[in-house]
Amino acid sequence: MKLSLVVPCYNEAENVAPFQDAVLSAFDGCGYDYEIVFVDDGSKDATLHNLKKLHAAQKCPVKVISFSRNFGKEAGLYAGLQHADGEYIALIDADLQQRPEIVREMVKILDEQPQYDVVAAYQDRRREGKVLSFFKKCFYAIINKLSRVSLQSDASDFRTFRRSVRDSILELTEYHRFSKGIFAWVGYDTCFIPYTACPRANGASKWNFWKLLNYAVEGIIGYSTAPLRLATCLGTVSGVAAVFYLIWVVLEKLIWDIPIPGYTTIIVLILFFGCVELFCIGIVGEYVGRIFEQSKNRPIYIAKTILDYK
Ligand code: UDP
Ligand code: MG
Repeated sequence: MKLSLVVPCYNEAENVAPFQDAVLSAFDGCGYDYEIVFVDDGSKDATLHNLKKLHAAQKCPVKVISFSRNFGKEAGLYAGLQHADGEYIALIDADLQQRPEIVREMVKILDEQPQYDVVAAYQDRRREGKVLSFFKKCFYAIINKLSRVSLQSDASDFRTFRRSVRDSILELTEYHRFSKGIFAWVGYDTCFIPYTACPRANGASKWNFWKLLNYAVEGIIGYSTAPLRLATCLGTVSGVAAVFYLIWVVLEKLIWDIPIPGYTTIIVLILFFGCVELFCIGIVGEYVGRIFEQSKNRPIYIAKTILDYK
């Protein structure tokens, strides 16, 4: 039996060696083979240099894939999965927030409980502000309502699965990748285990509020067409309201002979419907943009260097 650890790294120069040491100590005497597949996602610091050192030393089997530029974590995971050839595959961050010991527990669950194909960790306690927590809750509530797949809230991409799951994930070759949705879409029986994320070993997180918001939009657009229906609904509701208003205005003039106050009403209506139309065009645009990106059929990443150990 062999385990492949897929590790996306972007500017993690100080973390890669401690990460490997943590893996070595966590899997000491585990009784099965393991390899680490590092994906350098176009880092601007010495990450690749340090990964090359780890590859040369081969304290444990190490593969390195280095991208020609930063393609994003999702692309890194995809590349790592393509190069991982273990029977079990684990996705784990390089910053030691997710302890390799937990992967060992995940492997144990997969070994002992054949009914599960995936073991996914979710954060039981989050060290984050109330505002962010609130937005995350809203995001899960919205996406689970709108989409046919259901996402487990707080489940990260820290998970271990069987090779069949990897093969299924690799079959999804979409350009805009949203891993939470991909995991939910491919299905398989998943065992969720709680974990507490440790503080980052070195460096800073690459996420900020706007990136998270973008990521949330990506998820909703990628996994639901409900926003498109919103345009139809808004159109119908405003159409019906307009007919009623028209009848009211005609009655006012013909029956009660009330002079129609024009200017303010017209300005407000023009502005209101202008906004609604632009909003709807924006929604359609989000989908069209994704069709455009996908229709170019570009690769998900470009690897500049691939260092194998065989
Ligand atoms: N990462 C990546 N490409 C990116 C951004 C991040 O490969 O464009 C990697 C990063 O090196 C780390 C993991 O993805 O191993 C998680 O990133 P980060 O720690 O910034 O996210 P957080 O833990 O704060 O969610
Ligand atoms: Mg992190």
